[in-house]
Order: sequence, then C-alpha cells, then structure tokens
Amino acid sequence: MDSDNTKDQVSRRGFLGVSSGTVAAATGALIAGGAAAQEQTRSVRRANDRSATDPGPTNGPQDAQNPDSTWPPSTDSKSLVRTFKYPFSLANKRTYEGGWSREVTSRELPVSKSLAGVNMRLTAGGVRELHWHTADEWAIVLYGSARITAIDSDGKSFVADTKKNDLWYFPSGLPHSIQGLEPDGTEFLLVFDDGDFSESETVLLSDAMAHLPPEVLSKNFGVSQPALKNLPKNELFIFQTAVPGSLEADQKAAAGALGKATRDFAFRTMEMPPTKRTKSGEVRIVDSSTFKVSTNVAMAMVTVHPGGMRELHWHPNADEWQYYMSGKGRMTVVSTGARARTMDFQAGDVGYVEKTLLHYIENTGDSDLIFLEMFKSSFYQDVSLSEWLTHTPPELVMAHLNIDRATLDAMPRDEMVVVPG
Ligand code: MN
Ligand code: MN
Repeated sequence: MDSDNTKDQVSRRGFLGVSSGTVAAATGALIAGGAAAQEQTRSVRRANDRSATDPGPTNGPQDAQNPDSTWPPSTDSKSLVRTFKYPFSLANKRTYEGGWSREVTSRELPVSKSLAGVNMRLTAGGVRELHWHTADEWAIVLYGSARITAIDSDGKSFVADTKKNDLWYFPSGLPHSIQGLEPDGTEFLLVFDDGDFSESETVLLSDAMAHLPPEVLSKNFGVSQPALKNLPKNELFIFQTAVPGSLEADQKAAAGALGKATRDFAFRTMEMPPTKRTKSGEVRIVDSSTFKVSTNVAMAMVTVHPGGMRELHWHPNADEWQYYMSGKGRMTVVSTGARARTMDFQAGDVGYVEKTLLHYIENTGDSDLIFLEMFKSSFYQDVSLSEWLTHTPPELVMAHLNIDRATLDAMPRDEMVVVPG
C-alpha cells in the first residue's frame, strides 16, 4: 500500500504539473488508497486518450475540487443526471450585526424536493429573533454554543443551552429563538421538512407587531399605545444584544407559574453510543425512536476513516439530504434508466439522493469524512446491497453476476454500514 501510494503521488504530481499553483498545493497532501487509485486511472486515461483534453477556458480550482465531474469514471452514463450537489459557499448570504444566514433549498438545488437547509452564524449575544414557521425545524450545532427557547402547545416554556453536535427540533408552528453564547457565539445547520422552505418567509415577532394596528396591540396586551411607540418598524431577523445570564434564571423566569415543558426539544448526540462501529468508521442514527419530538426528520451521522467507504445501499422510505461536515468524499448515484453520475464533496457541501437510488460514499481524502444523511421520515431505514445479495438463493445471484461460489461467500453477510479500503 505504501509503495503504491508513493508511485501514485508521483504520477499525480506529474499530472498536475501543468495546473495552477493553487491546485498543486491543494493536492500535495497524502492521498488515501481509494483516491490514489482513482487518480491513477484518470492520469492513465489522460496519457492514453487524446480526447481527454480540455484546451479551452476552464476553472482550475473548481475542476480540482470536482475531479469526478471534470473526468467522470467510465462507468458514469452518457445520458444526463441532474446535479445533486450544491456548496453552501455559493449560497446567497444575508449578513447582519449579530450574524449571518444562507440557505440551500429547491431553488438552489432543484432535485432537493423533500428537505431544505440553512446554515447560520450568531455572535455571542447575537439572536435569531423570536419566530415560527410552517415547516418542522431540525438542527445540529456545528460550532460553539447556543441558548434556544420555545414553548410547547400547552404554553409551557423550554429553555436550554446546546453545544457542538447537539440537536434541537421545533415542530411547525411552535415559536422559538436561538442566541449565541460566550465565548464566540455559534454556527449551526437547520434542516426543514420542506424543500421549498425559506428562512426569509418565516413569521417574525417584529414583523407581526409592525403589521398590526396600534390600537389592536394596545387592546390585546392591555397596555397603553404610548408604551408601545418604540416597537420595531422593520424586521430584526438577526440582531446583536447582550449575552444572556444564567440558564437557570432564564428557565425559571420563562416557566412562571405554568412550569417547564415536559417534552425535551434538544438531543445530546455524543452522549449516545454509536449505533454501529466498524474498524473503518461509525454511524449514529437519531430518529423519533430516540429523539421523541423529531417526528418528521431522521438523521444518520456517518464517520468514514481514510480509505473506507459507506457501503452500497439505498433508502426505501425517503430521499436523502446530505451535509458534509469534514473531509472529502465522492458519491455515485445510480439512477433509473441506465443513468449514473459521480460527484465529489467536501466540508460545507450539500448532496442529495432520491428515494430508492443506489449509492455509496467513499472517503477520498486523508482525514475522517464526516457527513449527515437526513431524511423526511420519523424513522431511519436502508437496504444494504451486500446483505441483499447474500440473503438471496446463491445459484440465482451467481447466475446474474457471473461469479463463483467463493466470491459470493466472501461478501459481507451483514450490513457493515462502513467498509474498509
Ligand atoms: Mn426557526
Ligand atoms: Mn444513504
């Protein structure tokens, strides 16, 4: 493996010698087995195939980040498969004093019909203003810590502090807020159970107040009109204010005489052992069986060590919306009608696989690949290709695949989730 890697890196460097300095620097790092093999295939093709040239204008850094789009594997189909990747880097960022927000919805990624994602940053004290919406909101903290507030349908309050990898879930219509805590606020990913969702179409407290006659507000709250004269005239959305005090004080003040909400809207992902662990990685599955309020969104957080691969599988029950948290990977999606496409992913990218389509995700980098598989479903479900083939009459499988008994017997009989390189 070592000597192969060295050889592959030499050929990779030679191949990239004609490219920009940026590209050469980015690929100077060690390449794991799978990636080196792919790169070797590509450079052999470039050396032997006169058609594998691109003499016209091209975006070198983009090509380097997307080698499987630039020179697709020969197994990809020539008929088109629409894109199933959108990087948050290209999303329209809305910036405010106190933070920013950007989203990848069906407008940015038309294939993503069932779920939409929002990536948001809040400074320490920065607030995503009190609001509610028509979609259910699932969230994971990517950085720092945040205080979240909500009330349940009985009007009982929920206030909690969340840290990296913690989740929260706010069912549609329940009002809530998010605020960055010390020392450096927070960044998080929101996933909504509607591909057409937009953060700019939520009901904001400030907006609602600005669009009601003052005499109505006065009557509703039982206070004088002059007392309400400084209500904001425009939406706040994200704004900077002071860092909140102690959690206990906020919980007590919000609960009042009604008491605290009985349902827990937060989930501590890392306090749960991995659902499955192999020597090449692990998966944590969180759905409504463990995170009770998460009735319409299920998550699998997958870690694939260098050289490993999330095995070939599909999901019978729902489309998969992916978010890449770290590392690099590639995925082939085998679509219906003899169509297939391979695309490359890295931290900050969104991927998408429609329900029932066969796919794998291979770690093509030199560090752990960590990504989220998200589903609009109360439960997680997948079918493993290996498990299916090894639990079908062997003669039938051998007749299809032209393989001998020893080869079939060598295939994993149980779902591995993550297979070694
Ligand atoms: Mn929300
Ligand atoms: Mn999957």
